Amino acid sequence: MSDAAATLDLVSPFHLRCDAQWTVTGVGRSLAKHLGVGVVGRSFDELLEVRRPARADARALERKAGQILLLRVRSTGLDLRGEWVTLPSGERAVLCSPWVTSEEQWRSSGIELTDLGPQDAAGDYLVLLTAARQQSIDLERLVEEVGAKERRLAAIVDNMREGLLLLDEEGVIESANRSATRLLGAPESELVGLAANSLLEAVPAAGEDAEALEWEVRPVHGPGFRGRGTSYEIRTMKGPRRVVLFRDATEEERLLQMQREFLAIVSHELRTPLASIQAPLGLVASGAMGDVSEEAREMLEIASRNGQRLRQLVDDVIDLERLQKGSLPMERVEFPLAELLERSRDALQPIAESEAVELTLESTPEGSAHGDQSRILQVVVNLGANAIKHTPQGGCVSVSLLADDRGLVVEVEDDGPGIPEELRERVFERFFQVSGSDRRQGGTGLGLAISRLIVDQHDGSIEALEGADGSGSLFRARFPSPMEVKG
Ligand code: ADP
Repeated sequence: MSDAAATLDLVSPFHLRCDAQWTVTGVGRSLAKHLGVGVVGRSFDELLEVRRPARADARALERKAGQILLLRVRSTGLDLRGEWVTLPSGERAVLCSPWVTSEEQWRSSGIELTDLGPQDAAGDYLVLLTAARQQSIDLERLVEEVGAKERRLAAIVDNMREGLLLLDEEGVIESANRSATRLLGAPESELVGLAANSLLEAVPAAGEDAEALEWEVRPVHGPGFRGRGTSYEIRTMKGPRRVVLFRDATEEERLLQMQREFLAIVSHELRTPLASIQAPLGLVASGAMGDVSEEAREMLEIASRNGQRLRQLVDDVIDLERLQKGSLPMERVEFPLAELLERSRDALQPIAESEAVELTLESTPEGSAHGDQSRILQVVVNLGANAIKHTPQGGCVSVSLLADDRGLVVEVEDDGPGIPEELRERVFERFFQVSGSDRRQGGTGLGLAISRLIVDQHDGSIEALEGADGSGSLFRARFPSPMEVKG
């Protein structure tokens, strides 16, 4: 097909090309489809009847180039509207569009929407018909898509592990997914219409996190259990609704407990062999077992330092496990602050000296505090050691122990890089370490988790803040006096 013919075909797929004798030399793709085979070489008049201008045949069209013609396909009766033009090659082209004025005609013509070209969009009735057809196709597709999406969503909701309840504004169950019916021991038909709070009794949240909720779940049939999940409001066409997502936390807790116990057992088993590796290392390194080369001593010291770290990790894991289980008895005695200050200094001063950090310690004179002194000391030393570790050489760390009749407040402030605000709560999580805290010297990420558990067992609180002058870190732990706790 020549370029000109291809272009014509694009614009007018119903066109017809003839030579100077009105013998057909080619037809557009849609007209070709409509007419079938054996078109080229036949005469124009054989194929098409000229209906307007009246009583015209092909030869009579000679002088009517550019005039609107009404033609009829003799073999099928399809009406065409168009005009003829002379192409630069001398060929004649009759540019046509189907002339359809009713839906009936459209249907019987067998023409598809895809047969039409841009020029055909000018046919009045056809344009409307085409637009209406297109809209109904779009609508059908849309309905199909929405239906498919709905089915996909329903499948997801039904196969979720979590129970899902949809509540109306009064908290009455409107629908329940398959997991919810399993967890609540009743089919959806039995659940719909029940007040959700008769099945899920909210347990006051331990933290402020509205996303993590706990319920005492009382199924319609079957034993009760502790549920955990979340609840939020959504807007629907029928008004606001509440979605409740919940799961059985019993299994989760059992697995967590198993994990903790496993960790504790492994740690216990590691403690003794570790000690028997470390002690001889120290002895050999000190030269007590004979001369050791400088190189060997360095290697032994590295091994000993790593052994020390491992020992620390094992001790921390064991401590954490005991504190979590509540199996570490806390002494509740009154003790002088001066004693705590002295013991804190003994533990922290050597670390500060080795890190070239200036350490200041102060306490309320003559003050006293209440609680387990060794455990409170553990908190002070952990906070102090962290502060020293994160302070550059030549910087300062201050530790203050302030007591009044409401209790003891421990404050540890440093000159370090501080902790980004969004991570100040997370540093109390087990094994959490702020990435990029470059002076970190192989900590375990457990110190602050342990400190928080110790503080919790004293009914106190611990928080990480920004240093007083807007830089560095300030850690504050409160150990309330027994009177405060009761009050
Ligand atoms: P670690 O053994 O890593 O010190 P911790 O639980 O004591 O574990 O601390 C958790 C993380 O909190 C640390 O790894 C560190 O990233 C960050 N952190 C603790 N104290 C400070 C501090 N004073 N300044 C900056 N970051 C700190």
